[in-house]
Amino acid sequence: MTGLRGTGVSPGVAVGRALVVEHETGPVFRLSLPPDGREAEVLRLEQALAASAAQLEAIKERLSREVGAKHAYIFDAHLLMLRDPLLRERAVEVVRQESVNAEWALRTVSESLHALFSQFSDAYLRERSTDLDDVIGRIQLNLRGSPGAPSLARLPEPVVLVAGDLRPSEAAELDWDRVLAIVTDVGSSTYHTAIIARSLGIPAVAGLKDATRRIAPGALVAVDGVSGEVVVEPSPEALATLRAAQEQHRREDERLRGTRALLACTPDGVAVRLEANVEFPEEAATAQLYGAQGIGLFRSEYLLGRGLRFPTEEQQLDVYHRLLEQMHPFPVTVRTWDVGGDALGPTGPSSPNPALGERALRLLRRSAEPFRVQLRALLRAGAHGPIRIMFPFVSGVSDLRVALGLVEQVKAELRAEGIPFRDDVPVGVNIEVPSAAVVADRLAAEVDFFSVGTNDLIQYLLAVDRTDPRVSSLYEPMHPAVLRTLAGIARAADASSTSLSVCGEMAGQPLQAVLLVGLGYRELSMAPSAIPRVKEALRAVPAAEARQLAERCLELASGSEIEALVREALPAVAQAAP
Ligand code: PEP
Ligand code: MG
Repeated sequence: MTGLRGTGVSPGVAVGRALVVEHETGPVFRLSLPPDGREAEVLRLEQALAASAAQLEAIKERLSREVGAKHAYIFDAHLLMLRDPLLRERAVEVVRQESVNAEWALRTVSESLHALFSQFSDAYLRERSTDLDDVIGRIQLNLRGSPGAPSLARLPEPVVLVAGDLRPSEAAELDWDRVLAIVTDVGSSTYHTAIIARSLGIPAVAGLKDATRRIAPGALVAVDGVSGEVVVEPSPEALATLRAAQEQHRREDERLRGTRALLACTPDGVAVRLEANVEFPEEAATAQLYGAQGIGLFRSEYLLGRGLRFPTEEQQLDVYHRLLEQMHPFPVTVRTWDVGGDALGPTGPSSPNPALGERALRLLRRSAEPFRVQLRALLRAGAHGPIRIMFPFVSGVSDLRVALGLVEQVKAELRAEGIPFRDDVPVGVNIEVPSAAVVADRLAAEVDFFSVGTNDLIQYLLAVDRTDPRVSSLYEPMHPAVLRTLAGIARAADASSTSLSVCGEMAGQPLQAVLLVGLGYRELSMAPSAIPRVKEALRAVPAAEARQLAERCLELASGSEIEALVREALPAVAQAAP
């Protein structure tokens, strides 16, 4: 029994079963319409307004019938708002004059009405702004259900996507074939959308703070994903410069892809295995194109898409099987559902601070079912090739043991059902929570491999939100605390002969990759397109030199000193990868 306390606001007592209702908000697009598309859009808006009015009339009528006309006045107010020229006519005017879609016109009008409401001195009138939200929300919902409604899954043409924040669930459903580049207000290089864009080879600039306000719909936008420059309506000269950079990037990419067949072997003969991080199964082909020796991280939660539904066992088996076939004879490491951290998951945001909340393995305590189904599919896929299972967000031996217990339970189930599977599929831990790094020696005794998730490890170690551009300068992969932690993990793995890799973004940065080799790492997993540059760097620096460099770095006091030393020691690598 749990006791809750609030403020009673309407007297009476009742007992019944709870129906829990949550709001769902979706992205609102700002689309530029062709001149001959405006009237059709006005019609779509009129239809959504008419549908909303009919719904409100029906609600009002039912309320009058059931509780009396005097209680239905709230909906009179909603109907008045809906029909008010300040909303209706103004929205139509915005569609016609600004040539934007109905959703965006409504949003524009809503903002100006909110500004108006906030000026009222009367508190009662000011509070009517929540009614306005209610009315606008209803119209937006009616627009969303109407034919021709824009959707991330069906982009009208190839575009530069300008977004405030693009959630992983939205990225999962995005029509990537029509995305030329991505520009976001939030985020930094370890932001998920940035990671995917890199994997797909789509230029992206994140952390622009107010790009959504400053870029008009339909504006020509040039995006340089290397320098981070975004130019709106570029001059012919600026455009020519950017086009030249684009051509140079294309040629360089082609040259680097030519190194596909070369091994990532240091001049003193130390072989480093380079694998690919993948979010979508189709990326396996890109991984091969860039010469990946396996998939070191498959972020399986992207299979959920925006429907936020876990795929069935058979659907998953099919995906994992295809990945193994495509990557044959190399291994494929599948990370179990890492949901809940950022609203990607059937339960939506998991807690007031999702990054520290009920995320990934912690959801096991809520329900084992999604994990059970996934483990069944993974163990069955093991019968077809070298698959590996990786648990994310492990904080210590206790939560790991719960997950390992489930693996054993699932094996027993499969055995009892006579379903073929591989009994000795390697199971590992994504070391990304600092406590897991501290007790790495204990974890090593329980698993077959470690893969260090530096993206989260750095975020939690340095207490810097990896998605917040305001603190991105504090996010230092070469911070002494990070290097010491990485060295400690490598020692624990070495002492117990546990296989070890890094799958965070550090692995894909040539300078940092050399440092990782110096710290003892021999497997690195990264965005497919990062492989050739990292390979080039590793082929140029002897492992013994990298080790000496890492040792010197471990003596230093700050991230900036370490970075300066690394740049000075490896000028060619630094120059090739700024
Ligand atoms: C990490 O945390 O480094 C990692 C590889 O996982 P993700 O970026 O998906 O959190
Ligand atoms: Mg992580």
